[in-house]
Amino acid sequence: MIGFVVRNWFRDSLETMFVIAIGGMVTSVLRQARRGNLPIYRCEACGGVTSRAYAVCRHCGAPVRS
Ligand SMILES: [Zn+2]
Repeated sequence: MIGFVVRNWFRDSLETMFVIAIGGMVTSVLRQARRGNLPIYRCEACGGVTSRAYAVCRHCGAPVRS
């Protein structure tokens, strides 16, 4: 009986930790996406995602307008 209760408690705490870990991962991904969305620049020539840190598009070589 005690073993049964301990197993249930163990499984419940594992499930709780699992939910917390998944929730933390989702929150971290959403935070990164929100932060990463701002500097994204789409090339006007090919529509590829590149960065303003480059002088030309990484995909087609068109100049990146800043
Ligand atoms: Zn391009």
